[in-house]
Amino acid sequence: MEKTTAEKKQRLTELKESYETVKKNPLQLNLKRGVPGKNQLQLSEPMLTVLTPEDLYEETTADFRNYGILTGIPEAKQFFSEVLGTAPEEVIVGGNSSLQLMYMVLASKLFLGQPDRKSAWSQEEQIKFLCPSPGYDRHFNVTEKLGFELIPIPMTDTGPDMDEVERLTASDASIKGIWCVPVYSNPTGTTYSDEVVERLASMKTLAEDFTIMWDNAYVVHHLTETKDEVKNLLDTCKKYGTEKRAWMFCSTSKITFPGAGVAALASSKENIEWFTEILSDQTIGFDKVNQKRHVKFLKNKAHLMKHMEKHAVLLQPKFHKIDTLLSEYFKDDNILEWTVPNGGYFVHLTTQEGCATQIVEALAAIGVSVTEANSSYPYSTNPKDNSIRLAPTSIPVEEVEEAVQMICLCAEMVTLEKELQSNK
Ligand code: PMP
Repeated sequence: MEKTTAEKKQRLTELKESYETVKKNPLQLNLKRGVPGKNQLQLSEPMLTVLTPEDLYEETTADFRNYGILTGIPEAKQFFSEVLGTAPEEVIVGGNSSLQLMYMVLASKLFLGQPDRKSAWSQEEQIKFLCPSPGYDRHFNVTEKLGFELIPIPMTDTGPDMDEVERLTASDASIKGIWCVPVYSNPTGTTYSDEVVERLASMKTLAEDFTIMWDNAYVVHHLTETKDEVKNLLDTCKKYGTEKRAWMFCSTSKITFPGAGVAALASSKENIEWFTEILSDQTIGFDKVNQKRHVKFLKNKAHLMKHMEKHAVLLQPKFHKIDTLLSEYFKDDNILEWTVPNGGYFVHLTTQEGCATQIVEALAAIGVSVTEANSSYPYSTNPKDNSIRLAPTSIPVEEVEEAVQMICLCAEMVTLEKELQSNK
């Protein structure tokens, strides 16, 4: 039953009292960035000692200690081709960061030009990029700083709103591409449907060099028995003769060690040739010792999936805790909606409109840090002010519990206060 105004005021007073009590002894909880916990990093410690000198030069005429082998050692290409679902020749294995590979691809298209046309994007007056939102803030930063105008595209339960994507790409040649996190999307946990993949591959684009940045950062990062899979973009594009638009990425950042992992990209043969040429001016070869170390440790896709199950055992309780606490606290009202992802690293909260910024500020004042409100939108601008991202992986489950209790308190307090103010 709906509370009376007097009851609501009373409830707000109680909430404020609880809040002030916590404020006197602030907490120290950080749910800002999606980084693995220490116990997850420990899972890969045996990798540090798997290599022997012979691994690096004996089996092959190539010497992995030396310069060269620019596009990656053969066994690493084989490994990532299994992960990304392509042929080994369609893969380039890079350094430790997939984000850097993404930046390199876009900067190359911008300044040096495409394999399929002469002029570089920088020659054009206006360039734009589609940004499904909520999305990954670092993606948006890359394209913003490279000079693209960012166009937000609403996210649905099955991926970006394809009616909107098709309408825009068919009518505006300055739209050069789209960011996609197709599996367990950051931050909503959405996995793209087959229909969305088909439409991305087959849609007409006025820009002949349209680019799909397919960041499969969470492709093997399942949390439950329901293992989401996405239709293969490169294969689907081949069906429509659009394979040059498909640029797929992944890395072992959240498989082994972020910062000391291995990243890879896959694309059409023609794109790979073009990008290899460009890479050759930037490096004489990536860290092949680390590539070998990773392949020796992770072996193949089947073995990798076993390794990922160990991550899931450590992570799943944290996500489960968030869902159970929020379900219990908000069972009778519509103050908050939250995602319950099958994988990935995030939970996304949708607050009532106009409340997210204040909730995040209220949390910060009692020592609970979450990513800035609405930072999952281009330019951090979300007219609804209703988006909060939680990254619970790096802290122990007891701290997740404490943080969620504070989120419940602050979300109810801010929402109720706003409601009472607007009723005045
Ligand atoms: N893509 C997405 C969607 C991510 O969430 C992250 C890390 N938070 C990255 C890329 C970064 O990947 P890498 O460490 O390979 O640069």
